[in-house]
Parts: sequence; structure tokens; C-alpha cells
Amino acid sequence: MPSDRSTIVRIDAAAACDGLGLSLAPASMLLRVRGKARYGAWSGLAGARLIALGTSTAIDRHPDARNAQRITRLDCVLLPGMVNAHTHLDLTHLGPRPFSPEGGFVAWADIIRAGRRTDEQGIKSSVRMGIERSLLAGVVAVADIAGGVGRRTSTWPLEAMAASPLVGVSYCEYFCIGAQSESQLADTLAAFARRLRQEGSTPPGASLMQWTGRRAVRVGLQPHAPYSVGPAGYAAAMGYARFAGVPVSTHLAESPEEARLLASADGPFRDLLAAVGVWDAKAQSEFGGERPIPRWIRMIGASAGERSGLVAADMRSAAFGGPRIAEIREADLFEEESAAIATESAQLSRLIVAHCNDVAPGEAHLLADVGATVAYCPRSSAYFGHERSFGAHPYRGLLAEGVEVAIGTDSVVNLPASGGKTGKSGPLLSVLDEIRFLHRRDAADPVALLHMATIAGARALGLPTEAFAFGQRLEGDMVVPRAGGESDASSAEVGEGLPIAGVVAVPMSAPTKDERSRTPLEVVLGGTAAAELLAVGTESGEDGRAWSADP
Ligand SMILES: [Zn+2]
Repeated sequence: MPSDRSTIVRIDAAAACDGLGLSLAPASMLLRVRGKARYGAWSGLAGARLIALGTSTAIDRHPDARNAQRITRLDCVLLPGMVNAHTHLDLTHLGPRPFSPEGGFVAWADIIRAGRRTDEQGIKSSVRMGIERSLLAGVVAVADIAGGVGRRTSTWPLEAMAASPLVGVSYCEYFCIGAQSESQLADTLAAFARRLRQEGSTPPGASLMQWTGRRAVRVGLQPHAPYSVGPAGYAAAMGYARFAGVPVSTHLAESPEEARLLASADGPFRDLLAAVGVWDAKAQSEFGGERPIPRWIRMIGASAGERSGLVAADMRSAAFGGPRIAEIREADLFEEESAAIATESAQLSRLIVAHCNDVAPGEAHLLADVGATVAYCPRSSAYFGHERSFGAHPYRGLLAEGVEVAIGTDSVVNLPASGGKTGKSGPLLSVLDEIRFLHRRDAADPVALLHMATIAGARALGLPTEAFAFGQRLEGDMVVPRAGGESDASSAEVGEGLPIAGVVAVPMSAPTKDERSRTPLEVVLGGTAAAELLAVGTESGEDGRAWSADP
């Protein structure tokens, strides 16, 4: 990166905290930035790299501080950019909707199906609105679920994301249950496969391995859920994961309706599948006597207790059985050499399982064994009343069993219509507000919450985790910069600054008397002020596509 186009910016703040436990108060930060950028109502610094973080006096002594432009946020705590591990940006146009417990999940799903847009412009404008509301909430990386159009996957949300400051994965969602859907699987995945071929000349994941501040959005797959996708549909996803390094996500163990269909092949979801015309003898034969998590484990081809995840198990037999295999081969990624690269890059991202409200004793280790990350959407679980069906969400038990847990917002539809700072005309997609909710409700540990909102999500998406933290320890009055780690951000580049995904400033309310003993992070989690995304690591594209999308 040529430094002649960059400038140095100094931010002075009340404190800086991250998900590794760093807490420095007061704090000053030096960034090298490439310029300013705008995306809808968001504007901030772009192409930011972290040069130094320390006390104000330590930064005063830094040679780069002399000509730095100053940003003063003395009432704010600085946090790393946050990660939304499960959302549906293409539903943003729907806005928040009430949930009716009488109608249950099926009536709710009807609202979504009726309200989904199906045209390119409509979908992209909804996604852009969601991107804007993410940036305005301090979110810089997203696991977005791109809804299908008709029965086919859609890459329109990916195109909108790739033209924005966000990084992450656009998971193309599909349904596949019953004989006819299975026979159409290759056709269903055609748009995804085309996109994968476009990415194909670069080894999968390479853009993220070499991530140094350019935008990076990958295409992934989202078989919808274990009640709407059968073994063939999951095998196809795992084939792509295993042999092409494609990130995979799914909904899992979300609702009582799901548990019922899997246990006894009946109930509201059976009626729903019948209503959309996919309930046939094959579907009927696939359900019964199973719980969601064990069924999913069986369908991805990993046996319990085997630490296989995406890479170790030989999924060839599971994945290579039908017409879809020809489609996978067309991606042309199965030469010996590229298979090795693919295997390596598959390790970059983890399987994401969204929700997991319904976890029976003994099932957490199944998730840990396959290295899955649970994307817990706290306000979504509360909105649907899942605690009434399953008891309190098991996220702390999952963490204790070695399962990584990240935070998602789910779609805007399940967010409160009021409360939280609004964007142009609706709630922000705020991961910070999700962990505030947990902090208030469960008195959960602040650092663990921030870890879930940053590093855990980044790891799940295959992003360099160091870019979502500031540093691990203090040496004197300076934070030791993170070097090496999981990405190849070489320490030789420290002078130019280390990649950083984003810098967020969150105003602290003046602590009341009994709050004086609280850490800056506790005060932020106890507050309600909106985050301000001061800087992102990405920069406007050198291909001329600036981020000036008007959502
Ligand atoms: Zn979802």
C-alpha cells in the first residue's frame, strides 16, 4: 500500500476495550487512513490501519503523531468493528412486525414469504438499506442469508454487499425436500455455482487470507434448515465446503414446530411443506424419531464424536451421489492441487448454525466436535418466545462445552419497532444492542459478550480475527500491536499499520455513584447510546465503484 495517498488520524477517547480483555482508559489511537467514504447515511474514514494505541502521553511521543488530524471522542469508549453472525439483509424493507403466538412460526413464515421481493432492484435496495443500518450500528462484517428467488439461489444480495464497505459471506439459501426438489438441486444451485466459477480463478478463501483492507465478500451456501432440506441438500453443501472451500451456514434447532416434525413427521411444518407442494412419500420417509442437532450431524456426514468438521471426514461418498456432482465438478476446483488449497481454505470458515434454542443434554458436544459456531440471536429468540418452549437459551452452557458462540440480529422483522436508535425509518441491525440485552437480562460477562460480538463471528466467517481486536496486553503505556496470528499480516508492515476491520465509538453516560466501580465496557453495555462507526478497514474500490449507494 503506497503511503503517499494516506493520512494519519489520531483519536482521543475515554477508553478502548476489546473482546480479548483489553481495557485502557483513557486511550488514544493512531490510524493510517486512505480517505473518507460514505454509504447512504453513514460516513467515516476508509482504508484504516492501526499504527498505535496507548495512553495519551504515550501517543504524544509517537513520531507519527506530529502531523496527525485529530478526532476527539472524550466521552466515548472505542471498540473494534462488530460482526453480525446471522442476518437477512434482504428482508429489511419489511420493517419490524409483531409476532402472534397463536399463529406461531408458520403464520410468521407466511408473512415473510408474502413480503419477500423477487426482482433484482427490489432485493438490492432492501439489502442496501440493511447494509446502511449495519454500518450505522458499528457492524463491519456480516453473515448474510441471501433468500432464494423462486426455487433458485440468488447472488443479488452478494453483489450489493460487494459494492459496500462490509466484508463477510453471502450465504445463498435454498430449500430441498422431497423427490422433485432433489431432482432439481443442480438447477436450484445454478446461480451460486456460476458465481463460484467467477471466484474460481483465485483459490477459495485467498481474498480473505490476504485481506489487507480491500473489500472481501465470499459466496457461501445456506441449506435452510433440517426440516426444509433433506440429506441430499446437505450433502451438496458439504461437497462444496469440502472440495471448494465454500462457507456453509444453516438454521438449526430453532422452534418447537421443527422438533415436532423431526420427531413425528407431523404438525404445522408438515402442513407448511404440504402447502408449498413438496411433501411427498420421500419427505414422509425422511422424518421421525430424531432430534434436530443429531439429524443435522447425520446429514452433514460427520459421525458423532469424530472431530471431522469440514475437512477430516471423507465426505466423497456422501457428496458424490447425484446429478449435482457434475455441477460441482464444473467449478473446476477438483484437481489434486486445488483440492489441497480448498481443504486449507475450508478451515478458514466454520459451519455456522443459527439459533440452537433447542439443545438437549449431551448435544452440545456434537456441535463442538464438528467445530460449528452457534449464531445466537438473543432478541430474535425472545421475540418468538422460544424460552417459553425450551427454557433459557443455552449459550453459556455451549461456551462451557467448548462451542464457539457468535451473535446475530436475525432480520429487522424480529427487532423491536421502538427502542434503540433508528436509522432513516427503522431499527438498526445492532449487534451491540444484542449484547446489551444479554448483559441486562443475564448479567453476562462483558468481555465474553464483546468476544462473541467480534472475534467469534470473525472466526466463523473466516476473517482474520486480529483485525477485530486492538491488542492483547499493555507494555508500559502502549498496547502491544497484534502481529502474525491467523493471517499473514506481517510484522514488517507494522509501520504502515496493521489491518483493522473497524473502529467504533460508543458514548458513555456519566456513571452514577454506584457505577463508579464499573469498567468502561460495563458502562457501555449498561447504556443505550448508538455506536458510531468512525473507520472501516475497507476502502472504496479501485475499480471505480465508490460506495455511494443510496439505500
Ligand atoms: Zn435466519
